Amino acid sequence: MNSLHLIIHYHEIILKGKNRFIFVKKLIENLKEALGPLGVKNIRESQGRLIGDIPPEVNLTDLKIRTSRVFGMANFAIATATDTSLEEIQEEALRQLCKEEAFDTFRIYTKRAYKGYPLSSMEVDRIVGAYIKEKLGKQVNLTNPSKTLFIEILKNKAYIYTARFKGPGGLPVSTGGTLVSLLSGGIDSPVAAYRMMKRGCKIIFVHFHSYPYLSKTSQEKVQDIVEILSQYQGPSKLYLIPFGDIQKEIVLSVPHKYRIVLYRRMMMRIAGRIAMNERALALITGESLGQVSSQTLENITTIEQAAPLSIMRPLIGMDKQEIIDQAKAIGTYGISIIPDQDCCQLFIPRHPAVRTHMEEVKRVEASLPIEKLIEMGIKGSQILMIRAY
Ligand code: ATP
Ligand code: MG
Repeated sequence: MNSLHLIIHYHEIILKGKNRFIFVKKLIENLKEALGPLGVKNIRESQGRLIGDIPPEVNLTDLKIRTSRVFGMANFAIATATDTSLEEIQEEALRQLCKEEAFDTFRIYTKRAYKGYPLSSMEVDRIVGAYIKEKLGKQVNLTNPSKTLFIEILKNKAYIYTARFKGPGGLPVSTGGTLVSLLSGGIDSPVAAYRMMKRGCKIIFVHFHSYPYLSKTSQEKVQDIVEILSQYQGPSKLYLIPFGDIQKEIVLSVPHKYRIVLYRRMMMRIAGRIAMNERALALITGESLGQVSSQTLENITTIEQAAPLSIMRPLIGMDKQEIIDQAKAIGTYGISIIPDQDCCQLFIPRHPAVRTHMEEVKRVEASLPIEKLIEMGIKGSQILMIRAY
């Protein structure tokens, strides 16, 4: 029996010129991480595409789902390999099309990666097309066929398949450096992290909780969210930071309307410290302009001034509905909407300051032992490694 293979095509990473091989190498590593547990072996580059060997007992649905989450590929297919003789190719093409559900018209689409092959791609299209037409009595339609049969001819093998699946696009995770994501249990921050992963960043997660003042639910939710996100980036590190006692100190010494902004400024400092220890280059938040009172331009500005690194906000210009749709597609939405108690609800005033300014914030913050509070957060942190597979 002919063997089964995964064929992967990439497009964006081809643009990377001399660095191309770094991107391809990373993509191969990430595919091995995601597909190795299913028994897919020997993932390698071959004449401009990646090929992996699929064991016969594999669950193909599982394989497709996992493959579709690895960033950096344009499309993929599950193909059967034959040797490159025309007879073998024709026979395999016929076998695959016979297995297909009813279709009226078809086309053959050949790509000849090995230029030494004696026939051109168009000649293979024509010869295999005529053979299928004769055997199955179906008509060829080049512009709008109901079925396309793909043939890729390499030096020693031909790969044949009838379906191409869309890849997730983006760049391979870990080609773009490390970032630290501030992850609440809400809808937005997981989407923000996902979008930066898709641009090739490896993400470390930081969650602030107010246990034992509030329930443990937010901690359980973020662990589940990180498990889902690690389907896209591989094993992920999560810092759980006890924030309740830090909040108590803030509450004791500053006017109540500034609490939220000062909580957030402390989060930035602690996450920034973790980022520097982890050699991460920036922070990520799920902020979206105007969505809640802490997200006015004024408050975003006063909050960001406490961060020692730059802050990426991939959702800043998105509407809530767009973010919700994306959270559903990623798979985090169902967990995010489980009711919980976010740490910022602890000791929260009825009328928080909507537009704060740096001078007043600096003035009210002057009485706080900032460095001591950062260390309290770092020392109390619990670090988990979370894997999806
Ligand atoms: P989300 O849906 O991500 O919770 P939100 O709409 O509730 O966001 P805010 O509460 O203003 O908005 O939070 C803004 C951002 O601050 C969040 O997206 C997240 O990046 C960060 N953040 C808020 N709370 C926490 C927390 N408890 N731990 C870590 N980061 C947090
Ligand atoms: Mg929230």
